[in-house]
Amino acid sequence: MRYISTRGEAPALGFEDVLLTGLATDGGLYVPESLPHFSLEEIRSWRGLPYSELAFKIMYPFVDDAIPEDDFRKMLDETYDVFAHNAVAPLVQLDANEWVLELFRGPTLAFKDFALQLLGRLLDYVLEKRNEHAVIMGATSGDTGSAAIEGCRRCEHVDIFILHPHQRVSEVQRRQMTTVPGDNIHNLAIEGNFDDCQRMVKASFGDQSFLGGKARLAAVNSINWARIMAQIVYYFQASLSLGGPDRSMAFSVPTGNFGDIFAGYLAKKMGLPISQLVIATNRNDILHRFMSGNRYEQHQLEHTLSPSMDIMVSSNFERLLFDLHGRDGAAVKLLLENAAKGPVSIEDYRWRHARKLFDSDAVDDKATCETIRQVYDENEYLLDPHTAIGVKAARSCRRDPAVPMITLGTAHPAKFPDAIAEAGLTVKPQLPAHMADLFDREERYTVLGNNLTDVQDFMAKHWKHA
Ligand SMILES: *Cc1c(COP(=O)(O)O)cnc(C)c1O
Repeated sequence: MRYISTRGEAPALGFEDVLLTGLATDGGLYVPESLPHFSLEEIRSWRGLPYSELAFKIMYPFVDDAIPEDDFRKMLDETYDVFAHNAVAPLVQLDANEWVLELFRGPTLAFKDFALQLLGRLLDYVLEKRNEHAVIMGATSGDTGSAAIEGCRRCEHVDIFILHPHQRVSEVQRRQMTTVPGDNIHNLAIEGNFDDCQRMVKASFGDQSFLGGKARLAAVNSINWARIMAQIVYYFQASLSLGGPDRSMAFSVPTGNFGDIFAGYLAKKMGLPISQLVIATNRNDILHRFMSGNRYEQHQLEHTLSPSMDIMVSSNFERLLFDLHGRDGAAVKLLLENAAKGPVSIEDYRWRHARKLFDSDAVDDKATCETIRQVYDENEYLLDPHTAIGVKAARSCRRDPAVPMITLGTAHPAKFPDAIAEAGLTVKPQLPAHMADLFDREERYTVLGNNLTDVQDFMAKHWKHA
């Protein structure tokens, strides 16, 4: 499988290089040159497969000759074995034909484990083969950092530096990052906000000379193709559990960077019958505004009860724009260069096509709380604020009650106890057993000023072979 850039200028790469590369050199994102397509008959034959075996069927075409089949199978077995539920992604019923797909049974209690547990293993495998070392650098406002750290804890060829804004992530989120043991894990608390952290990461990718040419920087944010690939699987799994592919499904997806829902769009293109895909955003609603008015425009960042969806632009949306423009990289490049300067629109017929593919809704904090309360009253089932946004959007956008509506449950409610309290519920979400002692574990992190040189000096001194 070869991968091409959405901006049409960077060279095509194979799977290994795509894995190790962040942005393409032309500023674009990598996408597969072509998608595998599965017949209904083939999909039907996968009913009842264990999760990791299904994952193999769906992902191997993207990997193919980069990794021998047996090695990839072993990696998948190890990845999904650490999830705290035999089904890996269990379905919970909320109402007649309405479901939550619980994607938070992994080590850090958010759906990002599905991809990042695998990404750590993939990186280590490829680096070992090449006798190389990578330094991962990432910024986090919460979930990505902990999932990435957890995914890299056993990597021998990777150092990971995660920047988080000092005193601006929740205590559960901070502890999930800072209590993971390992010489290769480095938590940096930056005296600044999330944007400051992200700026430093961006600048460091642009000029990696501070590493002295001895290691390459690798990205773990959702622009990494391998993350998207791993998220396609659970759309198939959920569908197969509810009678697919012989009936179609609807999915509602709490969205920030458009990664998770883009995976659903790909599942559909690969042959899975999906009749509705709902983009569910919080007040940071650039995607909903685009879908409802064909205007792609950055607004100020708003802090909400669903912090993992607090974004101003949606980086993976570029991958959809590429398809909407008939895979014309030059057109996408021009559009996004303009989008960096001000509001942009796309041709009307292209926008209408996007509207056929997706419905959307934006849900504010008040409605988020109401939904948490409502679903708890209905079923004594606790939603985290991100999943609540998905459920709310599912209910407001639903087209056909005969089609199963599945909301992706992106985080465990115990990660966001403040939102549960804000919803007026007195019940306290409990951390699962494997994390019950989180508040007793020793933390390790270094506080640094909001200064790029200090951060880069620290990294240059502290990675393994420095
Ligand atoms: C990251 C995250 C999201 C948003 O996912 P995208 O792939 O960026 O759209 C939603 N909910 C939770 C809990 C997350 O951690």
